[in-house]
Amino acid sequence: MRARAYHLDGRPIEAPELAPGLHVVATPIGNLRDVTIRCLETLAAADAILAEDPRVTRQLTSHYGVATPLIAFHSHNAERATPGVLARLAAGERLALVSDAGTPLISDPGGGLVAAAAAAGAAIYALPGACAALAALVVAGLPTDRFLFEGFLPQKSAARRARACELAGVPATLVFYESPRRLAETLVDLRAALGDRQACVARELTKKFEEARRGTLSELAASYADAEPRGEIVVVVAPPDAGDAALRVDDLDARLRAAMADLSLKDAA
Ligand code: SAM
Repeated sequence: MRARAYHLDGRPIEAPELAPGLHVVATPIGNLRDVTIRCLETLAAADAILAEDPRVTRQLTSHYGVATPLIAFHSHNAERATPGVLARLAAGERLALVSDAGTPLISDPGGGLVAAAAAAGAAIYALPGACAALAALVVAGLPTDRFLFEGFLPQKSAARRARACELAGVPATLVFYESPRRLAETLVDLRAALGDRQACVARELTKKFEEARRGTLSELAASYADAEPRGEIVVVVAPPDAGDAALRVDDLDARLRAAMADLSLKDAA
């Protein structure tokens, strides 16, 4: 039988028995030492790990000496693979669900599986841990009492501006995931749609070249205009100030004009 063990700083540790069900396990977003003890115990004791990309998760499991079999479970095979996963849960297995990094289901696969497992009456357990959105929020220096997690904005500028315009009146700090390739143009679009708010670009959090760059959206857009950054990025944008939240008429005019740069009058409105 496979050892239900993991290694911590070179020492083998026996994991306790795991309850049957689906265990939704957060993994580090860069720094492997951000793993939790419960994450390691669960990965070691599970019958199988459902992984977005087994090659990526193997870096974590090998690092900690976990020998549990990995099964690919990602957005392209989720529908096909779900009935098999449900059958294994019904048979009393213990399955761990992980994504490449961070918390599964947060801009990552697994939502359909958790819904189906819940509908089938399976036990579902959360193992909280790293999430880039929260890590960025706490270093941004912006209000944390209310925030809206938007995930990735649309890739095309017109659709991105339109979506950002919809968020302009939301009285909360806004949190976006973005690719380094689109960062500069996204900052320009956010500036056009939201006004020149304070913001933070949090990059490579928990990794060697971790950085949090703060400023207004136009300052940040200028600083990235000619130098595409490397790595993974979260953009955090301050809420509108009290005057903005009331959506003054001149703001509306400016936002309408900005949106009409790329959209028809009807879509911009
Ligand atoms: N589920 C993950 C989580 O809990 O954070 C997010 C998955 S999403 C596919 C990947 C995006 O998260 C990246 O494109 C980037 O926007 C953000 N991200 C992930 N790791 C990051 C890091 N170390 N620093 C900054 N942003 C990160």
